Amino acid sequence: MTHLATGGDQGYLRIATEEAFITKEVLTAYKRLVAEGFDDPGFVSLWGFYSGSPSERATTVVDRLQDLGARRLGDMDAAGIDKAVIALTAPGAHVFAAAEAKSLAADANDQLAAACRRHPQRFIGMTAIAPQDPAWSAREIERGHGLGFKAVIHNGHVAGEYTDDEKYWPIFEAAEALGTPVYLHPQGPSKGLIGPLLERGLDGAVFGFGVDTGLHLLRLIVMGVFDRFPKLKLIVGHGGEALPYWAYRIDYMHAAGIRAGRHPSLKPLRMPVSGYFKRNIYVTFSGVAWEPAIQFCRSTLGADRILYAMDYPYQYQPDEVAAQDAIDMSAGDKKAFFQTNAERVFGLEEPVHGSGKS
Ligand code: CA
Repeated sequence: MTHLATGGDQGYLRIATEEAFITKEVLTAYKRLVAEGFDDPGFVSLWGFYSGSPSERATTVVDRLQDLGARRLGDMDAAGIDKAVIALTAPGAHVFAAAEAKSLAADANDQLAAACRRHPQRFIGMTAIAPQDPAWSAREIERGHGLGFKAVIHNGHVAGEYTDDEKYWPIFEAAEALGTPVYLHPQGPSKGLIGPLLERGLDGAVFGFGVDTGLHLLRLIVMGVFDRFPKLKLIVGHGGEALPYWAYRIDYMHAAGIRAGRHPSLKPLRMPVSGYFKRNIYVTFSGVAWEPAIQFCRSTLGADRILYAMDYPYQYQPDEVAAQDAIDMSAGDKKAFFQTNAERVFGLEEPVHGSGKS
C-alpha cells in the first residue's frame, strides 16, 4: 500500500477528474424547486434527499460541496489528491428556466474561477452551462476558457430532452472549436425513464444515473454528433456508464438494425459505435474503484483513455485511492491513469488564458 500523501512520491501525481461543488445560490434554488414540488421526479428524489435529509451522509455531502477552501484542501491532502478537476454538481443549471439557469451558471463559474485563482496548483475548473440556451452556452464556454477552465460540465438531459437534438449542438461545436472536453455527468433519470427505477429506489447513483447517462451518450453517438464534430472530446464517468461492457452487442445490433432498415431514426455512422470510444471518448472511474472494471477498460479502450476520479464529496473514500494505487499495471500505465492522461485530455500544461492567470 502506498502512503496517501500529495507530491508524487509514488511515481505520479493523483489528479481527480470528477469532483463537485455547489454555490449557496444554486443550493437555495434547488431547495426552492423541491419545496415547490417541481415536476421532475429525478431531481426531487436527488435534491429532496441531499437538501432535506438529516442523515449524516446528506449533511456531510452538502457541507463539503459548499467548500472551495480549507476543508476541501484538507480532504485532498488526507487522500493524497494533488489536483481536483471541479464542476458544479448535478444537475447544474439544467433544471431551471433559461434566465435563472444562465444567471446561476455564470455566477457559479465566477465563484469557481475565483477559487481556482486562489489555489492554482490544486484546483482546475469546468465551465457550467445552461443548455436551455445553446447559443449563450457556447459563449459561456468561450468565457470559461478565458477564465482558465479546462472542460465543460454537461449534466445530462434538459427537462427530459436529450442533447442529441441538433438544437443543442452549438454546445458541442464551441467545445470542439476550443479543443476543450465536455464531461457528460449524470443526474436523475428523465421523467420518461425514471418510473420503474424510482419504484424500487434505484433512480440515483446506485443505478439510474448510469442508465440515463449511458443512454444519453449512446444517443449522442447514434445521432452522429461525433461524425459532425470529429475532434470533439467527451468524458464520461463511472467506468463509461457500462457502455464499454455493452460494446460488442451494441456494435452488432446497431449494424444489424441499420442493414435491416429497422428504425427510421437509425442512420449509418462512419464507424462502429465502439469506434467513438477509441477516438472521441475518455472514461473516468469516479465511484468505480474496482480493479476488474478498470482493467477491462484498459484492455478494450486503451491505457491512454482511462482516467482516475474520486467523485468528491459523494464518494470520499481515501481507502479507495490506496486500492487503486495497488492495481496491477505497469508504472507507465498507472502514471497515465492517475496523471498524464488528465494532463493531456484537459490540456493542463497549456497556459491559462486571460484574467485567470496566476
Ligand atoms: Ca459525480
